[in-house]
Amino acid sequence: MIDPAQRLDGVLDVRLRDGRVEAVGPALAADDATVLDATGLLVLPGLVDCHVHCFKGLGSSGIDPDVIGVRRGVTTVADAGSSSCTTFRLFRDQAIAPARTRVLAYLNLSTLGMVVGPHFTNLGDPRLIDPDGIAATVAAHRNHIVGIKMLATVNTVGSLGFEPLRRGRALAEELRLPLVVHVGESWSDEPALPIEQVVELLRPGDTLTHLYTGQRGGVLDAHGRLHPAVREARARGVRFDVGHGINNLSFAVARRVLDQDFPPDTVSTDGSLWNVRGPVYDLPTTMSKLLLLGIPLADVVAMATSRAAALLGRADELGSLAPGRVADVSLLRLEEREWTAVDATGERLVAPRQLVPVLTICAGETIEPRPPGE
Ligand SMILES: [Zn+2]
Repeated sequence: MIDPAQRLDGVLDVRLRDGRVEAVGPALAADDATVLDATGLLVLPGLVDCHVHCFKGLGSSGIDPDVIGVRRGVTTVADAGSSSCTTFRLFRDQAIAPARTRVLAYLNLSTLGMVVGPHFTNLGDPRLIDPDGIAATVAAHRNHIVGIKMLATVNTVGSLGFEPLRRGRALAEELRLPLVVHVGESWSDEPALPIEQVVELLRPGDTLTHLYTGQRGGVLDAHGRLHPAVREARARGVRFDVGHGINNLSFAVARRVLDQDFPPDTVSTDGSLWNVRGPVYDLPTTMSKLLLLGIPLADVVAMATSRAAALLGRADELGSLAPGRVADVSLLRLEEREWTAVDATGERLVAPRQLVPVLTICAGETIEPRPPGE
């Protein structure tokens, strides 16, 4: 068992009862409970994927949350801005309600959300931000909405430059919600927004996602050095997330940034219909890529449990097996066998080991894994 929140890393038992963790410790009595022999497996707090696109049925990206959630070892997913203030109730009814996976959401700053693709100028007209609509939606759904999402890309803001992003920041502050900001120019040839001005927008508790993007607009300067403003942002409490996706994990960039002692705070898939059949597949595969890049297992586990829960403002509820917590447990096997890890740029690396989901327990309910994409 590895539970970074409790600083546990050893051979331990966990006893679940009535959908809660009842006890954790060495050689616990079964106490009439069903005994599951997890010898040789990793027993982890339910994994948390803090960046996915699971507005099932919306556009070409919206995936069923369970396909990347409980069927792949993940008990909680956070949708990063697929829904907006005009579509959130549909998202709630279509994606959150029927899922066995716990689904949280960042609301898109743009009223368009992901009704149109990310290559559209979603924030290019001031009328596409509806502060009253966002405030009303957040007020009605604080149990599900964990923050505001916006894309800091030239093609998103169009001729308005930083103006919509400043409005987003002010609105998030007013609503006392964190921001998650996408960097990485995938859909425009124009010069990217300067990263130092992007991170300047971020307050403690806000997140920059796509830390290791190989696209323009990332955290490295033209000489491959980590921009000082990025380090300063971390020092004041800004968080940095992986957000793999179809476009935004480059092994080459990751190695460069890791060499400059800048690991991510959280690991996430940016999982959607665009990448579930490769190169992303699922969170355990993305975690395995971080292992391959040299990040220790216990740190990778923290990035997918306690730190992801903290990022979502749910550290008191999720990401730990402390007694009293909801019974979310991920059983994985760290398989010692070669496989080919592919990043978003097409770089292929042979990896010596891979995390594979074996069994998921979400709120006390046991779910068997299915192959990626099913
Ligand atoms: Zn995304």
